[in-house]
Amino acid sequence: MKADIGVYGLSVMGGNLARNIAGHGFQTAVYTRSAERLRMFSEAYAGKSSNLIPCSDPAKFCKALAVPRKILIMVKAGEAVDTVIGNLLPHLSRGDILIDGGNSLYTDTARRADELENAGIHFVGMGVSGGEEGALNGPSLMPGASPEVWKQIKNILQAISAKAPDGTPCCKPLGSPAAGHFVKMVHNGIEYADMQLISEAWMILKHIPGINDISSVFRKWNSGLLESYLIEITARILEKKDPETGRPLVDLILDKAGQKGTGLWTSFAALELGVPATGITESVFARMLSGLKEQRLRGTEIFRAGELGTLSGITIDDVEKALYASKICAYSQGFNMFSAANEQFEWELDSAEIASLWRGGCIIRAVFLNEIMDSFTQNPKEENLIFQSVFAGKLRDCISSWRNVVCAAVRAGLPIPAFSSLLSYYDSMRTAVLPANLIQAQRDCFGAHTYERIDKPGESFHTDWLD
Ligand code: NDP
Repeated sequence: MKADIGVYGLSVMGGNLARNIAGHGFQTAVYTRSAERLRMFSEAYAGKSSNLIPCSDPAKFCKALAVPRKILIMVKAGEAVDTVIGNLLPHLSRGDILIDGGNSLYTDTARRADELENAGIHFVGMGVSGGEEGALNGPSLMPGASPEVWKQIKNILQAISAKAPDGTPCCKPLGSPAAGHFVKMVHNGIEYADMQLISEAWMILKHIPGINDISSVFRKWNSGLLESYLIEITARILEKKDPETGRPLVDLILDKAGQKGTGLWTSFAALELGVPATGITESVFARMLSGLKEQRLRGTEIFRAGELGTLSGITIDDVEKALYASKICAYSQGFNMFSAANEQFEWELDSAEIASLWRGGCIIRAVFLNEIMDSFTQNPKEENLIFQSVFAGKLRDCISSWRNVVCAAVRAGLPIPAFSSLLSYYDSMRTAVLPANLIQAQRDCFGAHTYERIDKPGESFHTDWLD
């Protein structure tokens, strides 16, 4: 009997996805480049599951699969994906389906799909979110599959994916091959912003006098507006003690945030598409700033005197509202990238569907994604999430707290790049006349770039400003 699907790459993600697929009753052929890793995986799991079929080379791996073959590639993003495709290609037939579940750059996926189309091979770029644990027990899956390809992979992917609280599989087809990786990239960009905002809220709470147990604040938040996986794990992280010193473990961690590049890609894509994703980009910059530890230590010596103070006049509720409002704006910026991508690439990304498939399994899963899904379902033409009436109402409720928190933090000298840039985004979006008219005048003055007049629309004007 031939296998239903093959998994190529058995590191944490590939190994756990293979076990998840086999656990759902699908015959799963597995292969990975390293013979030692294949042996260890086989010893640990293949003996226990008759659905796992280890294969010792790409030829045997492809031979073990039912035609049309379905192969999930789970290797390091970048050149490794091209190498793997090159290894598989001689053993594939027209109509076979390759699914790249790694964090590939969406433009690479578009190129690979075009190249494979000539050989009659379908290529699906699939975003996978949920980390190691999600891969095993149910990830959010974002497959860039056409309806024709989707029919052939749907039963396996929806079986292994996470389920939203209403039972809907967190896996929907996104049309074009590159769209799957684009959506996953934006997911990660939003994740950067969410994590930065939570960290800023934590720092603010630490500076409000009289709050002794911040973990319990996050626990409480997790049963309200902010209920989400990231808030839940933050509460648990904050209560973890270092066994050696008895101190909170988080306080012993060096404050330099790492990054693997998907936040940066989201910022690049936003700039290219002309979407002001300010919260996401500030969060990427914030991680870069965190990396300048030595310079920051020098800065502390040079500028410290009299600058930092405690926060006064704000409450825990204010911080909760500021965090919630900032989150709405950050998510809206991410969703704005979908409409821009639809226009640019002629895709049909549906914001309600994307909100739906992020409701379970993935890192940014949150109760408020239900509301995002509902509002885009009821009002699909609304261009910006912040204008959807339910979110506009919430922003109005939170705005005074949000301003108070930002002002108090700025007065106390606390760096809050994401909170403050998102507040400026909100303010820009509700300001009819921005000072960009002066910029136009300056451009015309030094470069004769011309400008439009509000009283004579559609015409271009030039003035000799320095006459
Ligand atoms: P890694 O990203 O650490 O990559 C290791 C895997 O890549 C191994 O299976 C390795 O094979 C394979 N590999 C590397 N170079 C080559 C090559 N030249 N030819 C063939 N195979 C190669 O593994 P992860 O499991 O962490 O992630 C897999 C993919 O999933 C990545 O794209 C990652 O970005 C993405 N991802 C990861 C998440 C996570 O939480 N870790 C979450 C979501 C997506 P071998 O061991 O046999 O040498």
